[in-house]
Amino acid sequence: MDLHAPIKDTGRNFKMLAGRLEKLEIRTPWDFLLHIPFRYDDFSLISKISDVQPGETVTINGEVLEMKNQYTKRWKNLQRAKVKDSTGVIDILWFNQSYLAKTISVGDKIALSGKVSTDKNSIMMVAPDYELLTEKEPIHTGRLVPIYPETRGISSKWIRRQVRKFLDEIPDNFPDFLPSEIISNEKLLPLRNALSQIHFPKNLDEANKARERLAFDELFLLQLKAKTKREEWIEEVKGIPLGIKQFEKELSAFYKSLPFNLTNSQEKAIEEILKDLNQDKPMNRLLQGDVGSGKTVVAMVSMYISHLNGYKSVLMAPTEILAQQHYKTISNLFDKTGLKVGLATSSSKLKGDFDILVGTHSVLFKKIDPSELGLVVIDEQQRFGVEQRSIARLKGNNPHFLTMTATPIPRTVALTIYGDLDVSYLRDMPHGRKVIKTWLTPNLKREDAYKWIEKEIKTNKTQAFIICPFIEESETMQTIKAATVEFEKLKKDSLKNLKLELLHGKMKSKEKQKIMEDFKNKKFDILVATPLVEVGIDIPNATIIVIEAAERFGLSQLHQLRGRVGRSDMQSYCLLFTESKSPQASVRLKGMESIQNGAELAELDLKLRGPGDIFGTMQHGMPKLKVASFSDTSLIQRANAEAEKILPRLSKFPALERELNNIASSQISPD
Ligand code: ADP
Ligand code: MG
Repeated sequence: MDLHAPIKDTGRNFKMLAGRLEKLEIRTPWDFLLHIPFRYDDFSLISKISDVQPGETVTINGEVLEMKNQYTKRWKNLQRAKVKDSTGVIDILWFNQSYLAKTISVGDKIALSGKVSTDKNSIMMVAPDYELLTEKEPIHTGRLVPIYPETRGISSKWIRRQVRKFLDEIPDNFPDFLPSEIISNEKLLPLRNALSQIHFPKNLDEANKARERLAFDELFLLQLKAKTKREEWIEEVKGIPLGIKQFEKELSAFYKSLPFNLTNSQEKAIEEILKDLNQDKPMNRLLQGDVGSGKTVVAMVSMYISHLNGYKSVLMAPTEILAQQHYKTISNLFDKTGLKVGLATSSSKLKGDFDILVGTHSVLFKKIDPSELGLVVIDEQQRFGVEQRSIARLKGNNPHFLTMTATPIPRTVALTIYGDLDVSYLRDMPHGRKVIKTWLTPNLKREDAYKWIEKEIKTNKTQAFIICPFIEESETMQTIKAATVEFEKLKKDSLKNLKLELLHGKMKSKEKQKIMEDFKNKKFDILVATPLVEVGIDIPNATIIVIEAAERFGLSQLHQLRGRVGRSDMQSYCLLFTESKSPQASVRLKGMESIQNGAELAELDLKLRGPGDIFGTMQHGMPKLKVASFSDTSLIQRANAEAEKILPRLSKFPALERELNNIASSQISPD
């Protein structure tokens, strides 16, 4: 039987359940086998009836003496059974499962697993799991019993039966696609054993060993696939080598024109990028730097080089506000160079010719002739999906790619996702930056806090953000209403002596643009905004940020928000408010007080909330993992090393090549 055939072709009942199975991402028999239990019920203690104690979880093997339905008032019904073994008899009770009287008959050999309780003076089992005993090994009782992610109409018990059936169809000599040298190097289980032990282990050690093998496979295949794609890409694709040396004069004039000196990390990143641009293979580099580390200017140097070589560049931003800001900053800083910067978003029509085009992804590529394009820069990369990146690549003239992000993706994870992507890090902050003082502020002190903000703003002539609660994933009317109410209240009341403006996503683009411009030009003091200002916004004169309902944000997101201040050498502050009383929320928010570094915060979030959340904001570009986890860095590294070793000899392992083809290409990045 073909384990990779569509599940609906595998049997009539699957055809009917295909929709529900899709919810569990089960599309083939193989997916069934990789539907991994998230825990096991321990029913392995098999006991004689005379030995059981109330409160124990046990399995009893016996013979059915009596089985009957009993109807009560109010449409309820009970199923009562008596089961005996060589030592005694026990009463069993189920609720509302009248079909049991048909499945279980007097004389049947049966196993019952569950908790023992007492009724008056006799012991009994209420609603135990049961299984008729045959010569086959039991799967629902008397052992570690797997519990799976379920959905409506698809129970763990049902899944268990299907898994057993598919496992039985795998022959003992089932070929293992993993080269035997890897299996022995890494001390892994053979695939056949891993598959059966992950579902029906004898003990937890066996389950863990099985999980290790399957997680290894997943990471290994993903990385090997990324590497093979990358190799094809390098072999096939010739890029545009950009000259560097002959433009030293122009570059140093540009550096001199900047209002600051570059940090060491910026210089090093620029050096790495220029080296790449000089090659005839397209650059594919990720620039990773914490919020405020100064990524934009690094991108500008790259775009300048592209221009000096006679090519245009585009800079993609995830939001219109950020695109507008980049347009302004870049135009200003390029003032002396004579470069023409254009802006293209859904609401701003491009005017005239340009050397550099800044915009949102949707419109950018309609405006440019691919043959003129030398470099594509993608800012806040974690905000874009895989598709956008592949579109960008397809339409270009094999341009160089620079992606930028503040999300601290561990290098190992980057490797899994992108194959051999090159990464540059901005590890140091611009000179003179101060630690942003962060306080989890008790609600009792709210009015005091507003008074303090007023004084602070008036004395130092600085500005503030107030970020309203994040209510839903996308910015809906509810979020906007909450922000509007808060804005009106503060304006009339606690902050009436200051000038406030409101910003949210549903405002007209022109309006948004005007407000951001006025804020930058210090025409008002406080910007009350929805969380849409999260990424990229740069207002160096803002030194205070207030974040409402802070517990609703992930730490990485809070860190991004906090990064809206502390962008100059002035002391900045972040005030966190929360209504939550949960101790976990308070540990997380206290973390914001003591930790300033985005990578460390991401790690804390990983510990406290699990990987789903840390990668929450970047899940677009992430492959889905069934068994492994991105936090398992040592396994990622082992799998990467083995993939690296096998890559040049891949054609000697046809079974492995076939397995690679079973991974949907869409699962990994286009690189
Ligand atoms: P991010 O890495 O978050 O995108 P930006 O590129 O927006 O950061 O830079 C943050 C702020 O720091 C901007 O106002 C920018 O002009 C300023 N900046 C960048 N590099 C330096 C530097 N080397 N010294 C001082 N300020 C800098
Ligand atoms: Mg930025």
